[in-house]
Amino acid sequence: MQLFAGIRGEVWSVQSRRMLVTDLHHFLELPPDTPGPAQRLAEHLINIVRAGTAGDVGTAWESALPCRRRPANRHCPGRIIVQRTEPAAPLRWQCSICDDEGVISNWEDSPFDLRRRRMALANPVHEIVISDEVGAALRELSLLDTDCERLVFRIRADRGSIILAVTDEDLEELIGSVAAEANHESNRRRRQRLDAAFDALNDAAATANGW
Ligand SMILES: [Zn+2]
Repeated sequence: MQLFAGIRGEVWSVQSRRMLVTDLHHFLELPPDTPGPAQRLAEHLINIVRAGTAGDVGTAWESALPCRRRPANRHCPGRIIVQRTEPAAPLRWQCSICDDEGVISNWEDSPFDLRRRRMALANPVHEIVISDEVGAALRELSLLDTDCERLVFRIRADRGSIILAVTDEDLEELIGSVAAEANHESNRRRRQRLDAAFDALNDAAATANGW
């Protein structure tokens, strides 16, 4: 049961809310025969770490990541709110709607730590509203460099909309990455999702630049 070492720390807090206490290291490099639920949990926690480290430090913010809970067999419509306070402190997360919440320790300097290593240039930023499908397609991209990955995991939810904040250069780079990955994709359905994301970003670029 080594696989579940990371979730063995599940505890009940005094308010009897369930708090999932996890150590990211227990979810890295899972063997290929890991059961599906453990793999999905690992993917969920990894995405939370990406969002938590891509966004700003200090304040809690609502990411585009969907809640994984399925009360009464329906997807919880909530999204994951993340908060990163300081290095070496566990990342905190909670669903915006249900009581799913947890903390993740040992995220620093993992391959999913997207904290910026250098100062960013303050170029004008476009706020682009995208669909959940486009957001999910962007999260699936496997060939992104760290700067693009940070943009994708900074995508936030705001009053029901999903918002991608990018400069012209960011957007151009992201569109290029989507196109490159779509060109190499042999799975037809995934290619369709990438093509749809490509079209949506291209339209957004055209609008942002008044083309
Ligand atoms: Zn939820």
